[in-house]
Amino acid sequence: MDEGLISASLRKSEVEDLPIRPGRLDDFVGQESVRDTLKIAIGAAAIRGEPLDHVLLSGPPGLGKTTLAHIIAREMGAGIHATSGPVLEKPGDLAAILTLLSRGDILFIDEVHRIPTIVEEILYPAMEDYRIDVMIGEGPSARSIRLDLSPFTLVGATTRVGLLGSPFRDRFGLIFRLNPYSEAELVSIIRRSGLIMGIPITPEGAGEIAARSRGTPRIANRLLRRVGDLALVEGCQKIDRDLADRALTLLGIDKRGLDEIDRRILKVIVEDFGGGPVGLKTLSIAVGEDTRTIEEVYEPFLIQSGFLKRTPQGREATPAARGHLHDSWW
Ligand code: ADP
Repeated sequence: MDEGLISASLRKSEVEDLPIRPGRLDDFVGQESVRDTLKIAIGAAAIRGEPLDHVLLSGPPGLGKTTLAHIIAREMGAGIHATSGPVLEKPGDLAAILTLLSRGDILFIDEVHRIPTIVEEILYPAMEDYRIDVMIGEGPSARSIRLDLSPFTLVGATTRVGLLGSPFRDRFGLIFRLNPYSEAELVSIIRRSGLIMGIPITPEGAGEIAARSRGTPRIANRLLRRVGDLALVEGCQKIDRDLADRALTLLGIDKRGLDEIDRRILKVIVEDFGGGPVGLKTLSIAVGEDTRTIEEVYEPFLIQSGFLKRTPQGREATPAARGHLHDSWW
């Protein structure tokens, strides 16, 4: 490829929303046991001519929950309706969606742990018996009417499975937890995305991005685009390790994939609180991030990387965190 062509393809990749989201189970990298179990369940449902059992997907953001919901719909040859827990404020909001579903459709509810209790309660009979009871009118003249629904599959996604009550969790027939991806898996996701976006990338370049992507495909794809930006601006032929390293360093992402906020969290614990333990609320004020973001986005990766410990007294930085802060030039 000559330089002009490469520049053109890199430019194109930034402008268009390219289909890097895998559309089939076979294109979905990693999470082998989830993929295998789903394949069997989808095959069996197709043979029985029944909708798939309700599916619950849990795990940190960016690991592929939404992607899997769309893949399930496609593999089942079904339609998909997507909504999210906080949007469903009243039972009527959910009833309006449920009554629109056709036989076999997928109802994808993101952040399913944030569905209000009064809405969750009408979801139970909908999931079990494909019916809902809705209240018509108010006061003494109010009455309940029963509506039959088309059999459907609920696919719920959550970053906080612990917040789901067991009556709700038990109504899902297939429950999966998505785990962070290995570097080798991220390398194949990055190389696949690079191919689709028309960004030539060496195996070492992909490895460098993978190592700094905190086990998360969404981050890997985002970093690939940013490295692609630098390649475009510098007129580079391909992304190699050196270019990836320079681009990611410019973005403030260190060798272990920590960004500025991760390092700030560790620094605050080490320098301001003598290494901890420090309570989540205090930490959130000191760092300037809300408690939920710290708990759901930053902490899991810091714990998994061996830099942070959660103790009954609060958060503690590990000796590895001190070493990392000392070694990195930030
Ligand atoms: P979640 O819903 O868990 O937050 P998404 O399904 O939106 O995550 O995934 C984020 C992005 O990462 C998607 O756009 C998709 O391109 C990519 N992705 C996620 N999982 C995979 C995978 N297993 N293989 C390839 N790409 C993936």
